[in-house]
Amino acid sequence: MSAAAIAPDVLAKYEPVIGLEVHVQLLTATKAFCGCANRFGAEPNTNVCPVCLGLPGALPVLNEKAVEFATLASLALNCQVRERSIFARKNYFYPDLPKGYQISQYDKPLAEHGWIEAPTADGGRKTGVPADRSSSVGWKRIGITRLHMEEDAGKSLHDGFHDSATRTYLDLNRCGTPLAEIVSEPDMRTPDEAFEYLTRLKEILLYAGVSDCNMEEGSLRCDANVSVRPRGQEQFGAKVEVKNVNSFKFIRAALEYEIERQIEVLESGGRVAQETRLWNANEGRTYSMRSKEQAHDYRYFPEPDLPPLFVSAEFLSEARKRLPELPEARRARMIAEYELSVQDAHTLTASREFADRFEAAAKTARNPRRVANVLLSEVGGRLKALGLEQEQSPVSMTGIVLAADLLDEGRISSKQMKQLFDVCFEKSEDFGPVYEREKPQQITDAGAIEKMIDDVIAANPKQVEQYRAGKKTMAGFFVGQVMRASKGQANPALLNELVVKKLEG
Ligand code: ADP
Ligand code: MG
Ligand code: ZN
Repeated sequence: MSAAAIAPDVLAKYEPVIGLEVHVQLLTATKAFCGCANRFGAEPNTNVCPVCLGLPGALPVLNEKAVEFATLASLALNCQVRERSIFARKNYFYPDLPKGYQISQYDKPLAEHGWIEAPTADGGRKTGVPADRSSSVGWKRIGITRLHMEEDAGKSLHDGFHDSATRTYLDLNRCGTPLAEIVSEPDMRTPDEAFEYLTRLKEILLYAGVSDCNMEEGSLRCDANVSVRPRGQEQFGAKVEVKNVNSFKFIRAALEYEIERQIEVLESGGRVAQETRLWNANEGRTYSMRSKEQAHDYRYFPEPDLPPLFVSAEFLSEARKRLPELPEARRARMIAEYELSVQDAHTLTASREFADRFEAAAKTARNPRRVANVLLSEVGGRLKALGLEQEQSPVSMTGIVLAADLLDEGRISSKQMKQLFDVCFEKSEDFGPVYEREKPQQITDAGAIEKMIDDVIAANPKQVEQYRAGKKTMAGFFVGQVMRASKGQANPALLNELVVKKLEG
């Protein structure tokens, strides 16, 4: 993948500097400045009107929902939202931009001064999610310079490949789709940090419900800026902007490539040209697209057809109320509440919808922690072994709660539960019907259980001695032995009670 193998000691002389610009399409029903549907995949040029086609005399009207989503995103990213922000015209000519300018925001954006907390290489993921993350090892705060609102352009579709394209088609459905552009500070130092930043950013936006962040459909797009400087030098080097990268993994790969390329240029006595480059995923390298000298002069000026945007204190506090618990905070709480590992907390919070369903179900159970446990180890384990997704599970949340409750009440042993889950996955049936049909036998006759305990005690004098010498945890050994002898059918609660009684007696 790399330009050429560079010796590690040469690489180590330089420090990469990375800043990311991310565009996300907002999930509004209609476009930013007109009533056309904001929908991906419609028949080309069907969701258009005089406003988004830029016909003379048509006037934009700001979509309040777009402001709401952009405000929610700003708050979720710890930004300060400006009371008064200004829309501006960013002028450039492009075939899929019929107005000849894009409505954006320039020197007075909607929001500024935010941040995202991301784990560093030494592993916030491993060290967990301490309550005060800002001061903890393994985490790093990456600044967000600004979040501003703008509109998307249309799409050009070329038939054939770049050089040999015979025709270009225009689909203007995307014209006027509301976007939030989120610009980071040049705070990242490794491609992995950039990857983590993007992963967190996407997750936060999904939780906030402002975008579907679908990269294949272009709802989330990222331009990566990267430079290198000799370690110890304060001044940044000339930056390169890498465009057209459509997955986080490719962004990481493009940054890795670009860092090595720049170091090579510097090592051979050259200087890095400030330019825009394109990532070619097939070849695993970047290509120069245009240099800064040919760069656009956008001639920004305030949009005369739109008044300043005022975000009132009320609007802001309403948005704040509607902001859900965000992923990192949720994981920290769930780790404490359900005694989870960091890894398990990630699994349970993979999507807000799933975490919501889990927590709603857990609330109805006798022991919510046990629900987490059954879900992760019994259901999660089997899904993983079969290579299935959570949505493909034959066992519903209700089924998981039922299993956890039966286990908790001692009406089934954990061995019986495992057998029932085996049947669920074999026959693709939920836990409820399987349990009803197969209701496992239970031995609840105290006399019969005592008889089995006596046998186990007689066969294990050493363990009895250890128990009586004070090693109380040895009781578990006897419970296990009897459970096995009973083929998992002894009533667990009764068994526990009787084992202790016998051992103490
Ligand atoms: P431009 O005007 O070229 O778009 P900006 O100053 O607006 O440049 O910055 C765009 C992005 O590039 C931001 O995310 C910023 O953090 C990042 N950036 C700025 N300077 C550098 C640099 N020298 N190296 C790496 N990234 C940088
Ligand atoms: Mg830029
Ligand atoms: Zn329209």
